[in-house]
Amino acid sequence: SLNVFKLLGYQRIGLVDRIKRGLDGEFFKMDSVEYTSHFGKRTTIRNFIGMPFEEEDEKKLLMFVEDITKQKFDELQLAHLATHDMLTSLPNRTLFFDRLKIALASAQRFKQQLAVMLFDLDKFKEVNDKLGHKVGDELLIIVGERVTGVLRQSDSLARMGGDEFLVLLTNMSQIGDADMVAKRILDVFQKPFNIEGNTLYVTTSIGVAIYPDDGENADVLIKCADIAMYEAKQSGRNAYRRYK
Ligand code: GH3
Ligand code: MG
Repeated sequence: SLNVFKLLGYQRIGLVDRIKRGLDGEFFKMDSVEYTSHFGKRTTIRNFIGMPFEEEDEKKLLMFVEDITKQKFDELQLAHLATHDMLTSLPNRTLFFDRLKIALASAQRFKQQLAVMLFDLDKFKEVNDKLGHKVGDELLIIVGERVTGVLRQSDSLARMGGDEFLVLLTNMSQIGDADMVAKRILDVFQKPFNIEGNTLYVTTSIGVAIYPDDGENADVLIKCADIAMYEAKQSGRNAYRRYK
């Protein structure tokens, strides 16, 4: 049999103490806790409730436990769905806006610059039309992976929708940093994409907007990046442009 006073899992979450006090007559109720059971199972527990009572002159404690591991998991899943793109698993536009707003507040406070980039694949419709939507989807996934690979951990890549992606660069020491990253993203497309036996040569067009030079808030910066991206398209594609 298990001695609850010796259960490490109970000790760690302060439950042993509660049980002792419970046996002295103190009712208790605990908020949800992460708990690793005696058998190593990780669970989330809500409402540890201890009801002290006496029976035949013996102090006893009735304990109620509710395991909410499944609900907790579902909640996290839902939160992930609301903030990420289903196809690529990248942050979606909502999460990007959130991060951008936070980054802008910090950049303002510490008088730093940041860059917002928008890139859109060139002639992506042709990929869909010639090879099918599934190959197009796969291409979007691989683009997300490749671009993530050339960004720093502190930068953010998001899928705006369709074949458009957003990049947030923080901790910039100079505007040249943004040019460098834009070049690296263009480089990502130098290597062909091999998808379901097809070898695809794809390029992208990038627009870059800098805080505070080009705009002070998220909407304006993304608008500027969009205009610059359009200019990159106009220039013949496979290029990046700064907003000006
Ligand atoms: P441009 O060089 O001007 O960007 O030309 P484009 O052909 O890439 O045209 P545009 O960017 O305007 O169109 C993007 C296309 O992406 C339109 C739509 O059919 C396709 N698309 C949007 N979402 C998805 C998706 O989730 N999967 C796939 N496979 N295609 C998508
Ligand atoms: Mg496109």
